[in-house]
Amino acid sequence: MDSAALAELKAAVGTDGWTDDAERIGPHLVEWRGAWSGRTPIMLTPGSTEQVAAAVRVCAKHGLAITPQGGNTGLVGGQIPQGEVLLSLTRMRAVRRIEPLEDVMVVEAGLTLLEAQQVAAGADRLFPLSLAAEGTATIGGVISTNAGGTAVLRYGVTRDLVLGLEAVLADGSVFHGLKRLRKDNTGYDLKQLLIGAEGTLGVVTAAALKLFPMMRSRATAIVGVETVEAALSLLATAKDETGGGVEAFELMNRQGLELVLAHIPDTRAPLETETPWSVLIELVSGEPGGAERGMERLLEAAFEAGLIVDAAVAQTAGQAAQFWRLREDMSAAQKAAGGGWKHDISLPLTEIPNFIAETDAALQMEFPGIRQVTFGHLGDGNLHYNVVPPVGEDPTAFAARRDEGARIVHDRVAAREGSISAEHGLGVLKTDEALRYKDPAQVAAMRAVRQALDPQRVMNPRVLF
Ligand SMILES: Cc1cc2nc3c(=O)[nH]c(=O)nc-3n(C[C@H](O)[C@H](O)[C@H](O)COP(=O)(O)OP(=O)(O)OC[C@H]3O[C@@H](n4cnc5c(N)ncnc54)[C@H](O)[C@@H]3O)c2cc1C
Repeated sequence: MDSAALAELKAAVGTDGWTDDAERIGPHLVEWRGAWSGRTPIMLTPGSTEQVAAAVRVCAKHGLAITPQGGNTGLVGGQIPQGEVLLSLTRMRAVRRIEPLEDVMVVEAGLTLLEAQQVAAGADRLFPLSLAAEGTATIGGVISTNAGGTAVLRYGVTRDLVLGLEAVLADGSVFHGLKRLRKDNTGYDLKQLLIGAEGTLGVVTAAALKLFPMMRSRATAIVGVETVEAALSLLATAKDETGGGVEAFELMNRQGLELVLAHIPDTRAPLETETPWSVLIELVSGEPGGAERGMERLLEAAFEAGLIVDAAVAQTAGQAAQFWRLREDMSAAQKAAGGGWKHDISLPLTEIPNFIAETDAALQMEFPGIRQVTFGHLGDGNLHYNVVPPVGEDPTAFAARRDEGARIVHDRVAAREGSISAEHGLGVLKTDEALRYKDPAQVAAMRAVRQALDPQRVMNPRVLF
């Protein structure tokens, strides 16, 4: 990098705001699973929006590309620079404002999701976004990937939880959009463009987030079902029985559960009966005891209707955590069993049973002996439709055939009007693949927006179209 540009960047963020020390930068250049590694001439760690803006202005002036990074938990490689300036938001962690009466908090982008939940809980409010990486993922990161997680069924995705945004655009100007309003019909809702933009339209520096009442009771159960159709009927029954009290409804197939039991220490089968599918259900209620009563009613109705064949209700918070571990360690178990391919897809709910039957058969025909690990947020129509190599097959050779498998899966997703990236974004992993399936008019509109806001393509240039 040009030494004048480097000096200007350092001046823009002050002495605490940059490093070129390889040891400090190192962890920011590798993705947690080792799927990507990168390089950068400098990592900026600005401490304020003004410093972010000053740094971006220098980059715009010299035509230097920027990769924004939060907690580095993204799963599609968009946060790992390949020679770009690395802009880490991890020093911007202030809670700017909390207004329990308005059910709003304003926090900076580098606060972790877990810390944001804790700040809300401290004011007896709930920030409901929750995902396994919440101890490290940041508010800026979940906004930029429009993260989903386990409570989407009740509270929506990140997009639904953001009232206002502050961001630095590609020319270094500040987008002052931190309004705490639920109603504001004054033209285009531009903050929605930045949500899910994966760092391509600007750097998110702060957000006004929606809060909710704390739930006074929570009940967790795992049930065994014979078919995905039965799981879907159970979901409908759960919604009816609880009037919107279903917070999570997570599907797991037998193969996935067996891999967890085999590879993750201190796990055990939750049910005595072995069924092809299990569902982890979490109900919540604003009334003490309400969730437990709702669960009792639901399980009774479900047994009576023949929807479930076995059930275990967590008796303690510890037991509920054990149930969740079975679900959350599916990816770790897949890795231990030889890795393989992952597909983060979504489909209209009623298409899911036929999609699984048809695609399972097509994959088995092409790759005999593969182990299919299908799990995910069924309530949101979101499946992690994953494939583990056959026992004894070389994982590296199998990984090399990923694109062949993806074509079989994604063609069938597209045919049923689904999405090939439900919650992880496109990053560098899926941008080309998405071009095969995305409506050309939408791609053109996205390119036009990007060109208008970032004509030099300074912001995360290798990500999105
Ligand atoms: C174990 C595990 C479980 C997960 N579970 C889920 C899940 O259930 N649901 C789900 O949706 N996702 C899940 N994810 C992935 C999820 O996308 C990320 O965890 C999270 O949203 C990214 O936050 P981050 O701060 O780590 O961002 P990073 O990984 O640092 O960045 C992600 C993307 O956002 C951009 N970005 C980051 N910060 C900013 C900013 N301030 N301004 C502009 N752009 C920015 C980056 O350039 C990159 O393109 C999971 C990940 C892991 C590791």
